[in-house]
Amino acid sequence: RAKKDGPGKVVVFEPAMHAEALARLTLTADLQHALTAGRFRLLYQPLIRLDSGRATGVEALIRWSRPGTGNVPPAGFLPLAEENGMIADIGRWVLRTAGEQAARWRATIPELTLNVNVSGRELVDPHFAATVERTLADCGLPAGAVTLELTESVLMSDPRTAVACLTDLRDLGVGLAIDDFGTGYSSLSYLQRLPVDELKIDRAFISRAEPTTADLAVIRTVVELARTLKLRTVVEGVETAEQHVAMRRLGCDYGQGYHLCRPIEPESVPAAFTGPLIA
Ligand code: C2E
Ligand code: MG
Ligand code: MG
Ligand code: MG
Repeated sequence: RAKKDGPGKVVVFEPAMHAEALARLTLTADLQHALTAGRFRLLYQPLIRLDSGRATGVEALIRWSRPGTGNVPPAGFLPLAEENGMIADIGRWVLRTAGEQAARWRATIPELTLNVNVSGRELVDPHFAATVERTLADCGLPAGAVTLELTESVLMSDPRTAVACLTDLRDLGVGLAIDDFGTGYSSLSYLQRLPVDELKIDRAFISRAEPTTADLAVIRTVVELARTLKLRTVVEGVETAEQHVAMRRLGCDYGQGYHLCRPIEPESVPAAFTGPLIA
């Protein structure tokens, strides 16, 4: 049904419009509103040294409280934000908010480091490195206290562009991590050429509560590869004591996961740095 609403103003209602397309439209509209309405917030999940059980830093993880729906996990809105370009504004908000927060924490916890996830679309923006530099300066946060996480699939879809973008960032002094390592198709020759500091081993590798000998052999190989390339290793998704012990034995440097510490509210972060979180 098309309704004429004054000259030159035609509003089209399409009764056959797919419920899915409609859902996308309202999702887009709600998402557009979310930044200005302050409906995003960040949780922080500690990265823990497996040998000492101490938190050394935190990873910022975005949450969206959608009116009428409640909390939407990142997987429920980041893909759309990447498609329609909203990820640029969201990413700037995340870096600024987490950066300001980390600078405040570092006044009393000087060793605290910050990890921030970055999407592929943000990375290829030619102004991205300059934006990062300015934001960190505004926050009063040294670049060396920050590590940007990029997924393996983003880096490997166009390795040449990725190397160029990463080199600009590396020149600023920020750390760079490959997130979800092992889920994409890393060319090992490119891995050597990427100017990265940290390998985050995807939780798929330790998905069994009690890792098998074969699981451990694969992870050992990844840890050895990382060591050869002089990369820090972080294992994601440590959910059991068995996994924690096994990963520590393999010489993995850091861990994240529900067994070590869940993503927590910013108010709870300082307490996580007062002593070992786990034996
Ligand atoms: P990621 O960066 O790999 O983050 C780890 C995800 O695993 C987080 O999910 C975290 O809550 C979850 N996790 C932590 N420990 C465990 C565990 O022991 N078991 C299991 N099953 N899961 C665990 P979350 O917060 O839903 O985030 C999902 C993904 O969304 C992130 O994966 C990241 O790729 C993306 N993301 C989150 N925040 C941001 C952001 O601010 N910007 C961008 N670009 N992406 C983000
Ligand atoms: Mg991450
Ligand atoms: Mg990850
Ligand atoms: Mg992940």
